[in-house]
This record gives sequence, structure tokens and C-alpha cells, in this order.
Amino acid sequence: MKIERRIKFIRETERKITFSVNREPLRFFCGACDASAEMLSINEAVKRTAKIWREIVDSIENGDLHSTETEAGEIYVCAASLSAIFERKK
Ligand SMILES: [Zn+2]
Repeated sequence: MKIERRIKFIRETERKITFSVNREPLRFFCGACDASAEMLSINEAVKRTAKIWREIVDSIENGDLHSTETEAGEIYVCAASLSAIFERKK
């Protein structure tokens, strides 16, 4: 007589994932608006407009999109100019 045995291994893992979300919008002085403005990273601008990264960068280079560069070399774009130019093109 043959006895079949099945051994089932269950591996449970637990992972804790934490990430911080900066809910406070970044505000910098925008020289073009001559006022304090909400500033977005290029990635955030891409997300908000569903435009491609290159299009955002081209708009910065053309001067259509207000931008500022931090001492660390990070580029931020002015949310007001972003909505102004991309709302118009819709
Ligand atoms: Zn601006």
C-alpha cells in the first residue's frame, strides 16, 4: 500500500512600507510672477499636465514656463504659469 503525503509550506512575510508625502505645496518666489508661487518639480508638472517630460523642459527653455533652480540644481516650475500655458493649449 502506497501512502501519499503532501507537505505544504506556507511562508508568511510581513513588510512595512513607509513613505512620506509632502502635502504642503512648495512655495518659492517666482521672479516672472513677481510673487510667491506654488512650485512643482518637473516630475510633478508632468503628472499634473499629462505632458511628456521633454515638453515641460522645452517650455522652460522657451521661457513660457516660469522656473527656478535651487542651489542643489533642482529645477522647479511655477504652477501658475504651468496651468496658464497648458490650459490655453487644450
Ligand atoms: Zn510664475
